Amino acid sequence: MTNINDLVEQLNKELDECSVMAHMTRDSGLQREACDRLELLVYVAANYKEQAVSHQFEDAANLFLGFIYSALALRSQICMWLYLKQENPDNAWDCLVLAQRYADSAIDAHEDFSKVKEFRDKMEQIEKLVFPPQLFFSAGYVVQEQECSICGQDYGDCDHIAGRPYMGELCAIKAKGLQVDHTAVVTEPADKRCRAVYYHTEGGKRNRMTWKIEPLDESEDAGPDDGSMVVHAILAVVSDQVTLHRPWLAEGEACGAEGGV
Ligand SMILES: [Zn+2]
Repeated sequence: MTNINDLVEQLNKELDECSVMAHMTRDSGLQREACDRLELLVYVAANYKEQAVSHQFEDAANLFLGFIYSALALRSQICMWLYLKQENPDNAWDCLVLAQRYADSAIDAHEDFSKVKEFRDKMEQIEKLVFPPQLFFSAGYVVQEQECSICGQDYGDCDHIAGRPYMGELCAIKAKGLQVDHTAVVTEPADKRCRAVYYHTEGGKRNRMTWKIEPLDESEDAGPDDGSMVVHAILAVVSDQVTLHRPWLAEGEACGAEGGV
């Protein structure tokens, strides 16, 4: 393996150069190029991580995991601006939430990424300044089994702790046999993507982001005529995969899951 400091320097330089594009005013074409560079950085860092794992260098493996999440966070932030410029605030919101989550993961991955906290705080400010207040939902589940993502045992039977890094992987609890027990409106949801998207109003449904009234789809029922409110909401996002948005592609092919990290 090449000197690890050289690899780290190379990755940091690439991140710094791409972060220049993380402003709304930047040219969309240049932002797209930065997204491509960051996607490549994710693959390069994943390759370094695999090499570190094969040599059982745990600190290096966790460090490269931090780079993967940092690149994904920055890429998500740039995609958020691209979607906003395209008047697609719903997808921009998903990218904002992803940027926050990936930043949290970078901070968890390795102590060298504690500086990502500044980025994380900035994304929190952007959430408040750029987007309207959201109506969040949280689903309560009955779970049959909770499995540790690191060793596959029942979570609690092993010594791994969720959110901590182990040889280039963050420990997560995999819930199995999920049954939704209840849903509730909350102020601090587990996943900010779980939110009200539309509510029915005279003439159709109002998008809570754009405030525009859109016609109901043929399959959609207008709901009871008793004054109660019909809300379209996202109640759960089930994915342990990396999501890569591509705002420059047509809707439907613009977002793909690219496997775990
Ligand atoms: Zn375990």
